[in-house]
Amino acid sequence: PRAPYVDPEAGAAVKAADRAHVFHSWSAQGLIDPLAVAGAEGAYFWDYDGNRYLDFTSGLVFTNIGYQHPVVVAAIQEQAGKLATFAPAFAIEARSEAARLIAARTPGDLDKIFFTNGGAEAVENAVRMARVHTGRTKVLSAYRSYHGATSTAINLTGDPRRWASDTGSAGVVRFWAPFLYRSPFYATTEAEECARALQHLEDTLAFEGPSTVAAVVLETIPGTAGIMPPPPGYLAGVREICDRYGIVFVLDEVMAGFGRTGAWFAADHDGVVPDLMTFAKGVNSGYVPLGGVAINAEIAATFETRPYPGGLTYSGHPLACAAAVATLGVMEDEKTVENAAHLGEHVLGPGLRELAGRHPSVGEVRGLGAFWALELVRDRETREPLVPYNATGEANAPMAAFGAACRKNGLWPFINMNRTHVVPACTLTEAEAKEGLAVLDEALFVADEHTVEGV
Ligand code: PLP
Repeated sequence: PRAPYVDPEAGAAVKAADRAHVFHSWSAQGLIDPLAVAGAEGAYFWDYDGNRYLDFTSGLVFTNIGYQHPVVVAAIQEQAGKLATFAPAFAIEARSEAARLIAARTPGDLDKIFFTNGGAEAVENAVRMARVHTGRTKVLSAYRSYHGATSTAINLTGDPRRWASDTGSAGVVRFWAPFLYRSPFYATTEAEECARALQHLEDTLAFEGPSTVAAVVLETIPGTAGIMPPPPGYLAGVREICDRYGIVFVLDEVMAGFGRTGAWFAADHDGVVPDLMTFAKGVNSGYVPLGGVAINAEIAATFETRPYPGGLTYSGHPLACAAAVATLGVMEDEKTVENAAHLGEHVLGPGLRELAGRHPSVGEVRGLGAFWALELVRDRETREPLVPYNATGEANAPMAAFGAACRKNGLWPFINMNRTHVVPACTLTEAEAKEGLAVLDEALFVADEHTVEGV
């Protein structure tokens, strides 16, 4: 169907079956009320009741080229007609071509691609490769991170969502990565934050025993935890520390990769090349589940004569790989990466900073490309968040009211704790960006009412 679409009865049937039988991620099943979605196109989706929404979440930050791109839809249909599925141990055209195109875009010598079905599996396998390659077991990851919800990935994740299921898995050690706005190191400048964060990693390694550490795993730019670009020099510093101790440096680009930041990969901004890079989401805009690990020459060499102890039934699924080949083609043809960079520099960045100037609820604006966060606060002086961490019910009312105000005016916002992330399709037009900024402006007045300046 095309928007506006009105068929409330059909919507009610979809919703009723969902509530009866679908068990949703991250949710208290009895407390949720998922919107029934009838269709989507480009940067928009719509329900069965005539409402259309500008999607400032791009799904879960994955529809980098927007919904229902005709070229990608056609490529999936064509692949389905030709060879819909095949086992991973064979060489097939869609898989070989996807791997070739991905390797051509990843930095340095990250030229071998292990395919997975998503981000968490990519992280699981990157850790396994690092452990086998080094013969060491410990893995270091950062607080304020998200790496997925499978066993090792959730333990690497440094956000409160892991609390309920964390087994405190043996071998995972967390440290603090830089974040100047809420500095774990009481720093007041980027240079100070960078230097102290690197010293803290050195100290952590000294006490853990560097020769026992297989890998340091970082999101190049932590996404879910708040879109926090690291200070200049930090990633290069971690690279140097890893080199010194023979530790595998894993950069997780599941969210930040494939155009999101206005570069093919976020690591490109710093010119840093990790040993392993995980990806998913934007690689094919999520049209068919796909993720993977890009592997450098040295680690690939480990597995030249010795079998890799891992695999997946659907590794490099033909439909997913055909979607990746088509998506990468679309991104070249439509200059999607350049568009994301342009949006960040000339539309979203300036527009969001302008909102921050006028709304006391905006404590900080951070980001680049089509990857931005607004840190909403009760008090700009003390930086007290607009709602406490993990707030629910009444305690979360200010963020809930902000979200409702966005949706009422046709914008679907990404909300995580006290933040809203502006993470639309990288193909967003200037006009669409301005439409979204205008709705955010309105909704921020609702948030302002809950600040010390507003009351
Ligand atoms: N790593 C990062 C940086 C992510 O943002 C995510 C998902 O948001 C994951 C890993 C997990 O990916 P998936 O949900 O596809 O397993």
